[in-house]
Amino acid sequence: MTAKLIKGTEIGEQILKEITAEVAEIKGKYGIVPGLVTILVGSNPASISYVTLKIKTAHRLGFKEIQDNQPVDISEKNLLALIDTYNKDNSIHGILVQLPLPKHIDEKKVLNAIDPDKDVDGFHPVNVGRLMIGGEEVKFPPCTPAGIQELIVRSGIETSGAEAVVVGRSNIVGKPIANMLFQKGRGADATVTVVHTRTKNMAEHCKRADILVVAAGVPGLVKPEWIKPGACVIDVGVNRIGEKPSKDDPKKMVPILKGDVDFEAAKEIAGSITPVPGGVGPMTITMLMKNTLKSLKFKLGIQ
Ligand code: NAP
Repeated sequence: MTAKLIKGTEIGEQILKEITAEVAEIKGKYGIVPGLVTILVGSNPASISYVTLKIKTAHRLGFKEIQDNQPVDISEKNLLALIDTYNKDNSIHGILVQLPLPKHIDEKKVLNAIDPDKDVDGFHPVNVGRLMIGGEEVKFPPCTPAGIQELIVRSGIETSGAEAVVVGRSNIVGKPIANMLFQKGRGADATVTVVHTRTKNMAEHCKRADILVVAAGVPGLVKPEWIKPGACVIDVGVNRIGEKPSKDDPKKMVPILKGDVDFEAAKEIAGSITPVPGGVGPMTITMLMKNTLKSLKFKLGIQ
């Protein structure tokens, strides 16, 4: 048996098309477009490439986009003042501070300074609380878990009553996706187990999963014999295991990426599976764009 591939690149592209159409419609009716600002402190190469991709995507969708680059020695006070300016700016609906921040800045203080109604990353304690309450309370689900849920729903996987097992309990993936899967509603109503480094018999838990979400950051952690035949396997892990020459420019080296699941063997047992790369990865930016559009819609009272 070969599993159906859940392609985040294709599903993400479809959602971006839907967002573009909605942006044009709102612009025509209300004369306003979603506004996204990304604040980058310093010049960490990985952070620059993440921010550039976010801004490029926002531009492509017809958003107003601002890439606000600040020097590495900006004071915490000035950074907080900058956030306050964007909190008050009516043309900005989403504020994103690219992490990590330099050591002299308190990351928590900075993230908590973002207006929860513009916190499109969904990391502010108010939005974490809203997610826990569930239903209509949820404004901005965090982007990677929201992307996972969208992949599951759009691939026609039944979640209601399903046994879901989440490997990992981080604040950005494990905890929120577990929470989202056991809530009531679309892409949810599952019975959820969360496993982590202190779990005994991890294999036994995984073997029960109709939906297995793996977010540990350990290449090849999940073995094929841990997978229930026909299960849906969502591999969130992105692990750099080496480098290879780029297809476009053989002189340039690009990272070799592997997930947390032994993909080649797992695809012979699972019913559906996400590849790495090209599975969960592309969904994160897509859901960031969706949250920014949602923020504008909340403001207009049309969400
Ligand atoms: P994290 O903060 O390091 O958390 C990893 C979690 O996995 C922890 O809860 C840890 O358990 C658990 N874990 C680690 N090794 C384990 C093992 N051997 N057995 C059982 N549980 C284990 O990582 P994260 O931020 O959630 O990210 C996880 C992976 O997803 C990484 O590869 C990351 O690059 C990737 N990721 C991808 C995207 C994307 O595609 N857009 C977004 C976010 C993250 P303890 O709590 O007990 O330590």
